[in-house]
This record gives sequence, C-alpha cells and structure tokens, in this order.
Amino acid sequence: MTGRVAVLGGAGFLGSHLCDRLVARGDEVVCVDDFSTGRRANVAHLLGNPAFTLVEADVSTSVPVDGSLDAVCHLASPASPPDYLARPLATLAVGSEGTRLALELAERNHARFLLASTSEVYGDPAVHPQPESYWGNVNPVGPRSVYDEAKRFSEALTFAHHRSRGTDVGVVRIFNTYGPRLRTDDGRVVSNFLAQALRGDPLTVYGDGSQTRSLCYVDDEVGGLVAMLDASVTGPVNLGNPDEYTVLELARTVIELTGSTSTIVHRPLPTDDPARRRPDISLARQLLRWEPTTPLAVGLARTAEALVAEQRLGSASEPGAGSE
Ligand code: NAD
Ligand code: UDP
Repeated sequence: MTGRVAVLGGAGFLGSHLCDRLVARGDEVVCVDDFSTGRRANVAHLLGNPAFTLVEADVSTSVPVDGSLDAVCHLASPASPPDYLARPLATLAVGSEGTRLALELAERNHARFLLASTSEVYGDPAVHPQPESYWGNVNPVGPRSVYDEAKRFSEALTFAHHRSRGTDVGVVRIFNTYGPRLRTDDGRVVSNFLAQALRGDPLTVYGDGSQTRSLCYVDDEVGGLVAMLDASVTGPVNLGNPDEYTVLELARTVIELTGSTSTIVHRPLPTDDPARRRPDISLARQLLRWEPTTPLAVGLARTAEALVAEQRLGSASEPGAGSE
C-alpha cells in the first residue's frame, strides 16, 4: 500500500524509523507526537520533505489530523519501564483515550488501524516461548500494570471496534527492540549497557542476570510493522526476534563487542520483572512472510556507532524521563 498515513508517536525511537521507511517507499506521512519520551531530533531530517508533516499534540486529548488518511499507526505511549513508571497516568490515558481517539480517526477515514501492542501483555509468562494464543500472567495492580494493562485495554478496544463497527485493524505484539535513536537515558537494557560500556562505567545487571530477553534490531522490526500494515490480517501477531539471551550474557557480549574495560555490578531486580521472554513467531512467518535477519552482534555494533555519533552531537544528555 502507498497512501497517506498518520503515525502517532512518530518522533519516538520506533515511530521515527517507521516514518523513514514509509516516506522512502512513497507514502505521505503525518507524524503526531507530544515529545514526552520522543525527540524532535529523530524526525528533523524529514522536516523539509513535502511528504512529511509534523503535528505536536497529546493524542490522549485530540488527534488533530486534517485530510483523508489510508492508515493510522498508533505507537504513541511511553515504552521504557523508567519512562512509563515516571508517567503512570499519562501511560494509562494514551492507552485508553488515546487509543479510542486513534480508532475513531481510522474509522472516520475508512483507514486501516495498526496498534503497536507489546510482549508485556504476556506479563511474567508461564508459557515459553509465547504464542499469541497465550493469555498472559499480568499483575493488574503492580507498578508495571500502568503499561501492561493499558496495552491489554488497547487490544480489547481495537477488537471491539473491529467487531462492532467493522474497523479494519491489525494488532502487533512487539518484543524488545533496539537500535539507533534509543535515548541513552531511557533506561532500557541495550541503551544502558551500551552507554555504560562506552563510558567505561560498570554495567548494571538487575538481579542475578538470569532473566532472559529476545532482542530484535529496529530495521527488522519496522519491516514487520510495514508488512502488517499492508496485510489484511487482524492479529494479534508477535513481532520479535526469537534468539533468546540472559541479561548477563547480553552484558558480557556488549563489553566484548565494544572492547570496554567496564565491569559488571548487580542491582536489585525491579518489581514484577518478567523472568523470561521469547516470541513464537510462527504466525508472522506464515501470515506476513516476515522474520528478523539481523544478528545481535551486528545490531549492537550499529547501535553503538549511532550512540557515539549522538554523543558527539551533544544530544545524548537530553532529558527523557520526567514526572507527572
Ligand atoms: P518511544 O518512547 O521512543 O516512542 C513513543 C513516542 O510516543 C514518543 O515519541 C512519545 O513522545 C510519543 N508519545 C507518548 N505519549 C504520547 C501522547 N499522549 N501523545 C502524543 N505522543 C505521545 O518508545 P518506542 O520504543 O519507540 O515505542 C513505540 C511504541 O511501540 C510504543 O507504543 C510501545 O509501547 C511499543 N513497543 C515498543 C517496544 C520496544 O522494544 N521498543 C516493545 C513493545 C512495544
Ligand atoms: N536490565 C538490567 N540492567 C539495566 C536495564 C535493564 O539488568 O540497566 C534488565 C531488566 O531488569 C530486564 C531486562 O534487562 O530484566 C530488560 O529490561 P528493559 O527495561 O530493557 O525492558 P523490559 O523487557 O523489562 O520491558
């Protein structure tokens, strides 16, 4: 499909890469963002392009996009644990009111609606790896619930719209994704470890580091998002890289890859930190003909290179996590 696409949260890490990919293939993109956890700098290179428009707005209040649309991609939400823990009410608002307004925008335009959901809907999973048929194990009142339950509600609202109003929807469950444009202060494991290793500071492994994650390089992930946007698939569909590593393995890989002299220190494990996470991507392979291809070492090297470049430009210290 090429057409006119609204990308809510388009100035964020993933959203800005999605804007790049859509503009490159000939789509017209309207990026809507409130810059709460994203950065204007992520899309600054697109600003002079007639195929790109930037609208500053909090989509929990309104989504001011004029003109007709062929698709609405809803990526607006804090995503890193420190970011959403610092903004509990805003996270719930954008997952509820924001999703409702985004769905109504899609419905008015007879546009396809793409929801960026998350592996966090599986919580601390009792089933491993996680297929889409698994209903999850989420603490509904714990600190992480502001994100997990907001995304679960977003999924419920999206499916209700599809069933009761016939809105064309697609839900993807994104597993941990990393790459250039991650903020060095966003607190996620890859940005923390790379920034620490590049500075020569100790890498902070939470708990004993035996918990696992499966990390997908951003170019691969965006390929999956675009495949889902173009497909007539409702989902939910898992999008992630099934290669699974312990956090301690990841720390050692980062130290080796950057040639750093950093040591490893252990810090307390955050509340309700999931013990393991690995996507079953059979559905994505079958329905979208999609699978990731970038090895971890290659993706980490590209991300490290970008972090070094950003630090030279002085944007690495830009404040990210604020408070409500
Ligand atoms: P990010 O924080 O870099 O991007 C989110 C963007 O949404 C930011 O630009 C932020 O300013 C914007 N935003 C937040 N609230 C908003 C609001 N009320 N109105 C307008 N804009 C708002 O995070 P990301 O990693 O790029 O994540 C993008 C989406 O993908 C999120 O919905 C997230 O839940 C989902 N996701 C990401 C990952 C991952 O590993 N990166 C994993 C699972 C799901
Ligand atoms: N983590 C860590 N050190 C850090 C940041 C994160 O050990 O400096 C761990 C965290 O406890 C979790 C994993 O790395 O087990 C992934 O954390 P992240 O915040 O990136 O994403 P999550 O998958 O928890 O949403």
